[in-house]
Parts: sequence; C-alpha cells; structure tokens
Amino acid sequence: MVDKEKTAEREEKMDVMRHSTAHVMAEVVQSLFPETKFGIGPTIEHGFYYDFDLPRTLTPEDLPVIEEKMREIIAADIPFTREDVDKDEARQLFAAQPYKLELIDEIPDEKLSVYRQGSFTDLCRGPHIESTGEIKAFKLVSIAGAYWRGSERYPMLQRIYGVAFDTEEALADHLKMLEEMEARDHRRLNKQLNLYITPEEIGGGLIIYGPKAGRIRAVIEEFWRQEHFANGYELLYTPHIGLSNLWETSGHLGFYQENMYSPLDIEGKQYFLKPMNCPFHILFYKSQMRSYRDLPLRWAELGTVYRYERSGVLLGLLRTRGFTQDDAHIICAPDQVESEIAEVFRFSLYMWKSFGFDNYKVYLSTRPEKAIGTEEQWHMAEEALRKVLGEQAIAYEVDEGGGAFYGPKIDIKIEDAIGREWQMTTIQFDFNLPERFDMVYTGKDGVEHRPYMIHRALLGAWERFFGLLIEHYSGAFPVWLAPVQVMVIPVADRHLDYCRQLEAGLNGDGVRVKVDARSERLNLKIRQAQLEKIPYMLVVGDKEVADATVSVRLRNGEQLPNQTLDDFKQVIKTVTASKKKDLK
Ligand SMILES: [Zn+2]
Ligand SMILES: [Zn+2]
Repeated sequence: MVDKEKTAEREEKMDVMRHSTAHVMAEVVQSLFPETKFGIGPTIEHGFYYDFDLPRTLTPEDLPVIEEKMREIIAADIPFTREDVDKDEARQLFAAQPYKLELIDEIPDEKLSVYRQGSFTDLCRGPHIESTGEIKAFKLVSIAGAYWRGSERYPMLQRIYGVAFDTEEALADHLKMLEEMEARDHRRLNKQLNLYITPEEIGGGLIIYGPKAGRIRAVIEEFWRQEHFANGYELLYTPHIGLSNLWETSGHLGFYQENMYSPLDIEGKQYFLKPMNCPFHILFYKSQMRSYRDLPLRWAELGTVYRYERSGVLLGLLRTRGFTQDDAHIICAPDQVESEIAEVFRFSLYMWKSFGFDNYKVYLSTRPEKAIGTEEQWHMAEEALRKVLGEQAIAYEVDEGGGAFYGPKIDIKIEDAIGREWQMTTIQFDFNLPERFDMVYTGKDGVEHRPYMIHRALLGAWERFFGLLIEHYSGAFPVWLAPVQVMVIPVADRHLDYCRQLEAGLNGDGVRVKVDARSERLNLKIRQAQLEKIPYMLVVGDKEVADATVSVRLRNGEQLPNQTLDDFKQVIKTVTASKKKDLK
C-alpha cells in the first residue's frame, strides 16, 4: 500500500512538472514565432502537448531547436508566478489570442488565474512547479496536426508532443519504449503487410479489409464460433438499423444519443444505425413465452455497430466509427447471475490465452453520472460484481463512474508484448433493460419474474482486437493465424513443376500456401516473403527436386535441415494446432 501511495505521489508530482514543461515549451514557441496563437497545453500519460496556430508548418528539425532553448530556460531557474484576474482583465491580457478568448468565455467563474514565467503568460488553473529548474528530464517527441476542440469544423492546429520524467533513466527507458511502439505501430506495419485500407472516399473511421485480413478474420471467427458453441452459446444475426421507438425504449436516445448518428428517414419514420446489439436480442427473447427452464440463455453475435467518434480522435484500427463487437447477452434468473459472470470471466481469460496473452488487469466500473435505475439497484449490482471477483480471488481496481448507463461492469485490460494495457473485455450487469422492455419468464411458482441480463464482449471490437494482434506480434502472426503460412520459392523456372506439386500437397491438407512463380532473383523473393512475415519459406532447387525433399527457411532467417513433405506437413500441423508462433 505504501508503495502504491508513493507511486501515486510521484506520478502527481511528475504531472505538475510535465504540465509546467508545456508552459516552457510554449514560451520558446512564442519567442520563435511572436504571432503564435495558443490553443491548450494539458498533460497526458508520460508527458504533455501544446497546440499552436503558427505562421508556418513545423518540421522535425524544429524540435531540437526548441528543446535547446527550453534547456536554457530550465538552467536559468525562472520562477512561475500566479495572478488572479477578473474576466475583463483576462480578456484584455489575451486580446490577441482568439482560442484563449473562447476558453475565457466558457469559464463560469468570475475570477481566473494566469501564470507567468519569464516572458510568457498563460491562462491556467495550475498548479505548477515553483521554478523551471525543477524540470528534470524531458524530450520533444513528435509533431501532429490537431483540430481545435478535436473537430473538423474548427481550424487545424499544430501539436507538439513531449515526454518528461523525474530522472534521466526513466526518460531513457520511456524513449526506448516509444521506439518499440513505433516499430510495432499497426498503421506502419499495415503498409508493409497490406492488410486493410481506410480510403478517404468512404469517410473517416471506416475500414475495408483486404484478402489477407479477411483470411485472418475467417480463422478467428471460426475459432470464436466453435468455442462459443462449446460453451453453451447460440448465435443471433441482427440488422444494422432499427426504428426510433426501439432506441427510445432501450434508453439509448435518452442516455446515449451523443454517440449515435442522425436518423434515416424511411417512409416518414426514423431509423437509427445501431450503436449496440442489445435491443434486437431482447426482441427475440420477447418473441416467445419463456420459462425458468429456458434460462440461462446465452446469445452471441458478431454484430457490427456504429458509434460517433469525432474526426480528430479517429486512429487507424483502434478508434473507428463502424466496428464489429464479439457481443453476447446472457439472460438469466437472478440466482444465476453470479455463476454466469464467473463463467464469462473464465471464458474470457481462456480466449485471451489462446491468442497468446497471459497478463491482464481487472477493473470494476461503477455508476456513471448519466444513468438509469435507482441507487439501490446500482448498489445491488455492484455488490454482485464485487462478490464474483472476491470469490475468484481476483485482484481489481475500481474505476469510479466508469460503468455503462444501464449497469456496472467488469473490464479486463490485456497486457501486450511490450507491457502496454489495452481495454478489451467488458462484462456488464444489467437490471435496467429487462425492466424497460418488460422482459419476463415464468418461475417455478407459476408467476412471472424479471430476468437479469449480462452484456459481454470478450475480444471487444474486432477492429481494435486486430490492431492489438498486429502490434503484439509485430505483424508476425502465429502460424495458426498467418494468412499465408508457407511460401514456396523456386530457384529457377525448371523447378516450378515440383513447386506446384508441393503447393497441391499442402493445400490438400488445409495449409495456406502460395508459390512465388515470378522470374525475380531468389534473394529478392526470399526478402519479400520475409518482409511479409510468412512463417515458412520452402526454397526449391535441383537438390530438392532430385531428393524429393523440402528445404525450410523460417521468417527469422533460420534454416532447417531438408525434410520430406510429409515430415514438414506433420510439423506445421502440430504448430498450428498448438496455436504457436513458430516451429520452436
Ligand atoms: Zn498551466
Ligand atoms: Zn448489450
């Protein structure tokens, strides 16, 4: 506990230091470009940014220049001073700063605070460090375009990102991590692997998957379906739009509308794109009389939903406007809730393990500000979740106010190969929708009772999950997922016939194989297969044809001894079945 408090205290201190570093950066930018219009400069995890409206586009070469001048200010140990002003004074101070003026108008208080260090004055709530000398270790890491208020409707500003730590060592560790992250960035790897496109013609946040991603998705979906059937789930398929009344009843129009798109008008009626699949599953439940003997019902769907995201926050596969959830609804009697939640928890961890993820963190998210249902119901639901986590002896943290509008939830964050946490699995306890939709079942006593609902997504959104897989594996998918598992490469055209025989033999056994029949140099073909991160290359020359063997090369460049095709088939079968990454 003491360690945890210490960490929190250190983080808080660093946060103040990081934000103050943003002020120092802004001071330098102002000195370099006196006509700069300033946006905002908050802290983020590990660092800070500041948005600027500048007379010219920044280049990466600007960053060391700005850093150098920042170091001078830090060395001079300039104090930060606070001054309280009223709104009119603030408006005068920032008369040449349109973005600041907008912010001033929005602040409800009459008194505002401004902070100065050296020649720079900023509208800011604080707090800051005493003086610039307290800044220990920082680096400016990147420049990006960022819309004012994160929306395309406003001007595009230039954002400089920086990181700052309390020791040089911590900074060095972090920079190494950033390098690793950049090498694994799914958008960067996608250029090399050609998995998906996000063409401007269809608009932001919408993805078109190519054949390779299609193959991977098919393998995953097949596995997903098998596992769901084996775990007592059934599948539902539902439409993409539904009448406004439905979303009225579900509470989405009242509590979730800012995440939904404008309605479509069909014959004078309003239809909304679905942001969630739940109401459709509920309608199927209600289509028949249900008895306690039918419960629990476990209905899953790979359901594509649409949620509004500001254009400024869209990010490759990680933040999209249309995405497919591996959704399910478990409808059960109140006394089944806890065992069902425990079972979903076990099932999620099993699924994550299957994809090569062993480390995770658990969060319990409680009642948000905008919510339906009474205090008492929320308390009961939160207690039920706590009980499940307690009984399973699962360590968890509480995310106050992070629940869904209809109920509290357990979130599982998955740790990737470089220790980053990804919010993926969500298990939500819902006592509200059953009531709003008047769902009932006949109990043992012959009387109508209200069921409970559990909403859960194990892998989360397919898009995000795919992004995670690409980054976790650096694009080198394990053999069972690799879109092409084997590339057969003839040394010369005369080896092509034998290559085609190998292809047919492997294909017949369900191995995903291709022949690189182009008349390019051998080295180039090997290099290309390696860039595409294909697990196995079978290089075929005179020797292989004469011996009727294959020479196996791994994507890491390692060469295995020649073997017969049957032996190789056996190996690849074993590796695929074990869901392993490679031969060893
Ligand atoms: Zn500040
Ligand atoms: Zn749901």
